[in-house]
Amino acid sequence: MTGARVGSALTDEQAAVRDLVREFAAEEVRPTAVEADETETFPEAVWDGLAELGLTGLTVPEEYGGFGADETTYAVVNEALAHGSLAVATALSVHCLATSCIAEFGTDAQRERWLPEMAETGRPVGMFCLSEPQAGSNPAQMSTTATYDPETDEYALNGEKQWITNGQRGGVAVVFAKTVREESDTSADDDAITQFLVPADADGFEIGRKEEKLGLRASDTTGITFDDCRVPAENRLTEPGKGLSAAFRTLTEGRIGIAAQAVGVAQAALDEATVYAEEREQFDRAIADIQTVRHKVAEMATDVSAARLLVREACRQAEAGEDYRVAASKAKYRASEAAMSVTNEAVQIHGGYGYTTEFDVERLYRDAKITEIYEGTTEIQKTIVARGVFGE
Ligand SMILES: Cc1cc2nc3c(=O)[nH]c(=O)nc-3n(C[C@H](O)[C@H](O)[C@H](O)COP(=O)(O)OP(=O)(O)OC[C@H]3O[C@@H](n4cnc5c(N)ncnc54)[C@H](O)[C@@H]3O)c2cc1C
Repeated sequence: MTGARVGSALTDEQAAVRDLVREFAAEEVRPTAVEADETETFPEAVWDGLAELGLTGLTVPEEYGGFGADETTYAVVNEALAHGSLAVATALSVHCLATSCIAEFGTDAQRERWLPEMAETGRPVGMFCLSEPQAGSNPAQMSTTATYDPETDEYALNGEKQWITNGQRGGVAVVFAKTVREESDTSADDDAITQFLVPADADGFEIGRKEEKLGLRASDTTGITFDDCRVPAENRLTEPGKGLSAAFRTLTEGRIGIAAQAVGVAQAALDEATVYAEEREQFDRAIADIQTVRHKVAEMATDVSAARLLVREACRQAEAGEDYRVAASKAKYRASEAAMSVTNEAVQIHGGYGYTTEFDVERLYRDAKITEIYEGTTEIQKTIVARGVFGE
């Protein structure tokens, strides 16, 4: 038996979606993952396949042609896709952050303009531009500005964003900037951070070079500079000053997706290690018969199950309309830690072979690290959990 999974209370529909995505990940995604990683190229044919399955509209409401997924479905899709490739799952989850922002904060006109196309064709690919070179864990310290010009009813965006997933392949960006306020506006808070929708072909939207990364190499990550980038006021997604609280809401939802992706990576490493342990012989027996190896596998399987249950609990709270911020942070913190330790042990079980590109555990080990960093580092997740414990 390989990589037993915990099956906690999915509806028939959720289980069917999970099985469909697992099959797609095994047949269409995983086989492209090694080459995509080596060549640092995003597999666009896989993206088109995701669109055909309706997954590029995962968080888009059904009335706009989307899937209208609940949190649990969002999580099981992320886990199943990440089992095939974390780079692909990451690209999809960032696209979903963008569509979620449009769905939740946009006007009817903005929803109609963008969502059906983004859901049905997966294009334009969405981006989420929050981080900056000097503003990561603390986005409030961002320096990108949006200056309103009453004569043209436009904002001029100026500044630099960093680490933008889908930066080169993306077609539309949700951008956070500090609004330089109009005199009459007294509604602003959050240090006046506002959310805008900016097409990548806008003048002054400059795409930087692709980062060379430890892992997640098929996902393109770039800087984006705004050089007097003119955005019509109708492209504002939130009222002035409401952007940061909106970002945090979107990121809380997103964290469940990252946690689920971490579970998918850990499960993939466990599956690889289990198969290898059954095949590899030393001392005239399969290493799967050596108690030390068996204990490693037991610990790995338990970590995966525990992380998956934390993800499910966060989903349950979200679906029940509860405040699920702490649950999402617990899930992300513990699932990313599981991804790191399980991929580490999977390499160990492969011995020297695990240290080569001949086996996939090497890529999984490199990819796992990012789950402890993006959409809020482990330290930030622990800060949120501690606040919950102390009732702050
Ligand atoms: C591959 C990749 C893809 C990404 N994609 C996107 C994207 O699409 N859009 C986007 O906006 N951003 C994206 N990011 C940015 C990511 O979210 C940030 O890197 C992350 O939030 C951390 O910010 P930082 O890198 O500036 O680190 P810093 O904030 O400088 O943190 C450095 C260290 O200090 C610790 N630290 C900082 N503050 C505290 C604190 N208060 N308490 C305890 N420890 C603290 C951190 O935990 C960390 O260990 C991506 C990053 C990567 C690497």
